[in-house]
Amino acid sequence: MIIVKTKEEIELMREAALVVSKTLGMLAGEVKPGVTTLYLDKLAEAFIREQGAIPGFLGLYDFPNTLCMSPNAQVVHGIPNDTPLQEGDIISIDCGAIKNDFYGDHAYTFAIGEIAPEVEKLLRITKESLYVGIRELRVGKRTGDVGYAIQQYCEAHGYGVVRELVGHGLGKTMHEDPEMPNYGRRGRGKKLIEGMTVAIEPMINMGTKRIEQLADGWTILTRDRKPSAHFEHDIAIVNGKPQLLSTFDYVYEALGVESNEEDEFRFSKS
Ligand code: MG
Ligand code: MG
Repeated sequence: MIIVKTKEEIELMREAALVVSKTLGMLAGEVKPGVTTLYLDKLAEAFIREQGAIPGFLGLYDFPNTLCMSPNAQVVHGIPNDTPLQEGDIISIDCGAIKNDFYGDHAYTFAIGEIAPEVEKLLRITKESLYVGIRELRVGKRTGDVGYAIQQYCEAHGYGVVRELVGHGLGKTMHEDPEMPNYGRRGRGKKLIEGMTVAIEPMINMGTKRIEQLADGWTILTRDRKPSAHFEHDIAIVNGKPQLLSTFDYVYEALGVESNEEDEFRFSKS
């Protein structure tokens, strides 16, 4: 059952999302060669608590940390550790926080220094596919329209679209209905309705779509060990259209990047 939110609840969710957006922005300034993912995890936990919020992943389904840290061939759900990041790596950081009893949950894949051009392209296309999917989040469309759009966009570049892990409804629990797959068929799936709040999160592999899980019971990685990217936003459907609750503005500010990719989905009070 889709749990529809009121306008007031959506504003409370925006505050929860903002905690995560700012945390990713803080991390953007810290992600560099020599830094360990465990160090970044501790920074994030303190930063989230300073904002009067609670780390959303810590303890959720018994996950041991604040951040999911998934370098290179890891797709998602990587556990922070003592291995320093190296020049040329990529690191997908997925972060959750609870504020106002609501979850924020979004992710960004960062480049560590200079990365190979083909990996840079994987990051760019995966992020673009996120917005391609968000554009379909309209009343009258269905979950399959979102998945179809993301899948087509990524497969056109020869990339593998992970099947086993999907986006989801978001609210007072981390995973609500409906599932939001990154693949699908036009006109199929659940109907999108006013007031629904979702996390869209393409997990896109440079090679095969096939994945494996490590013996730690968490880490998902590509079967061919080629890199994988993950970008995620939180979105509400308001006035029939997608409106971003999360933002990468803080990441871009830290990285010194100009971007207008979020402009069409921004919140306006009017
Ligand atoms: Mg996430
Ligand atoms: Mg999610």
